[in-house]
Amino acid sequence: YLPNAYNEEDLTLLEMLASYAAIALENSRLFKKIQRLAITDSLTDIYNRRHLIVLGQREFNRARRFKRPLSVIFIDIDHFKEINDHYGHRAGDQVLTLITRTIQEHIRDIDVMGRYGGEEFLLFIPEVDLETSRHIAERIRSSVEQGLSKSRFSRSPVTISLGVVALTDDIPSLSALVARADAAMYDAKRDGRNRVAVR
Ligand code: GH3
Ligand code: MG
Ligand code: MG
Repeated sequence: YLPNAYNEEDLTLLEMLASYAAIALENSRLFKKIQRLAITDSLTDIYNRRHLIVLGQREFNRARRFKRPLSVIFIDIDHFKEINDHYGHRAGDQVLTLITRTIQEHIRDIDVMGRYGGEEFLLFIPEVDLETSRHIAERIRSSVEQGLSKSRFSRSPVTISLGVVALTDDIPSLSALVARADAAMYDAKRDGRNRVAVR
C-alpha cells in the first residue's frame, strides 16, 4: 500500500517466483492435455478402445449391483473396404468421422460411445431396455443411411449394421456382453446388412 515499497532485490525474487509459477501452470496444462489424449481416438475424437472398456466395465458393475437395465449397441460399417478402395483412405476417414457425428446426435450425455476397432463403434446405454435400445439403433441406422446417401463418397448409400443386446442374468461379464452384441451385429450382416439385429 506504500509507494516505492519494493526494491530491486524484491523484484528479482518476484521474477524468480513468477518463472516457477509459469512452469507449474504449463505442467498442469500439459498433464490435462495428455490425460485427454490418452483416452481419445485421434480421428473421431471419441473414446478409444481402452477407455471405452474402462467406462463399459463401470456401467456393467453398476447395472449388476443395482439391478438396473443396460443396453449395448455394436456398430460396423458395411463394405467399408470398398469405400477405401474406390475413394481412398482419406475419404474413408471422413466417412468414419461423419458416421461418428451422426451416431452422436442420437445418444444422451450419460451414454458411453467409443471406437472399438477400425470401423466399429460400441455404445453403452444405461437405464434403457432392449426394446427401447432397438428403437435407438433403428434411428441411428436410418439416419446414417439418409445422411450419407447422395454423398461424394459413394454412389450407393453408406450403411451400417447394428447388433443390440440388453444385460440379462445369464451374462457373466462385460466381455460376454460385448461378444453377444458383436454376434448380433454379425446376424445383421448375414441377414443382408443395413439393419438392426437383436440377441
Ligand atoms: P463388412 O460389410 O462385412 O463389414 O465389410 P467391410 O469391408 O466393412 O469389412 P472389413 O472388415 O473387410 O473391412 C474393414 C475395413 O476398414 C478395412 C480397413 O482398411 C478399414 N479401416 C479400418 N480402420 C480404418 C481407418 O481408420 N480409416 C480408414 N480409412 N479405413 C479404416
Ligand atoms: Mg469391422
Ligand atoms: Mg465393416
